Amino acid sequence: EQVYLNGAYLPLADAKVSVLDRGFLFGDGVYEVIPAYNGRLFRLEDHIVRLNNSLSGIRLPLPHSVADWEAIFRPLLADDRDQYIYLQVTRGYAPKRDHGFPEQIVPTIFAMCADIKPFAGRIDGIKAITLDDTRWQLCNIKAITLLGNILLRQEALDQGSAEAILVRNGYVVEGAASNLFAVLDGELITPPKSHEILPGITRDVILELAAAHNIPYQEDIIALEALHNASEIWVTSSTREIVPVIELDGQQVGDGKPGPAWKRMDDLLQAYKKSLS
Ligand code: PMP
Repeated sequence: EQVYLNGAYLPLADAKVSVLDRGFLFGDGVYEVIPAYNGRLFRLEDHIVRLNNSLSGIRLPLPHSVADWEAIFRPLLADDRDQYIYLQVTRGYAPKRDHGFPEQIVPTIFAMCADIKPFAGRIDGIKAITLDDTRWQLCNIKAITLLGNILLRQEALDQGSAEAILVRNGYVVEGAASNLFAVLDGELITPPKSHEILPGITRDVILELAAAHNIPYQEDIIALEALHNASEIWVTSSTREIVPVIELDGQQVGDGKPGPAWKRMDDLLQAYKKSLS
């Protein structure tokens, strides 16, 4: 099991980082999760654009091109199954534990590959609960600092749900590790991009597919009350794809089964993935 660390490929067990790395001490870094189907990276350019936005959001720009990243990832990928690349960049080792940036910055760059395991909830649907969004204000940055997301996801799991849907000022924004879609009055709605959500690549793909297939959609805020009356709710992410929510806060969504709009969009997404590989 080879991983990439700072220019070298080595066995996972040999990949070591200093305890003075700012990723370890402060969570001072960003990450990406990039799916690859049969060895083909999905939407690599989009993921690198988002990575660069995250890096400039934490004032840690890197000079790597998309081709540079592709060359780094390529040796990690198998060509016969669905996998994802996990990429993490931190502000690196600093001799002193000081909040301010160190004078000399050598980023730590780490990448590994893992199989995508089929998620049963994608087909069967999941339960979700709504929780107050206790995260910070810069949710558009894919920061490795995930305590808020972790505590919210665990609260959902503890209550027998698979995802937490997060509420800010009476509006639902996204899931603890996913974006949010709802079908309201027959129209597909997802909250607009802002600092309150991570701009999901799966979210972009769904909106493109909707546009290409004349499925009416809107990017608009969704009140918590409106979500409770939605005929369908989905949560989306690269590794789980489009997951229908069949129960929200203990109440059935629609008829309590994955809905027709989900089925159509899931079919479109699977066909789109196939067309690329
Ligand atoms: N929002 C959050 C908070 C996430 O962690 C993720 C990724 N797991 C997403 C949205 C979905 O993004 P993507 O479709 O690019 O995986």
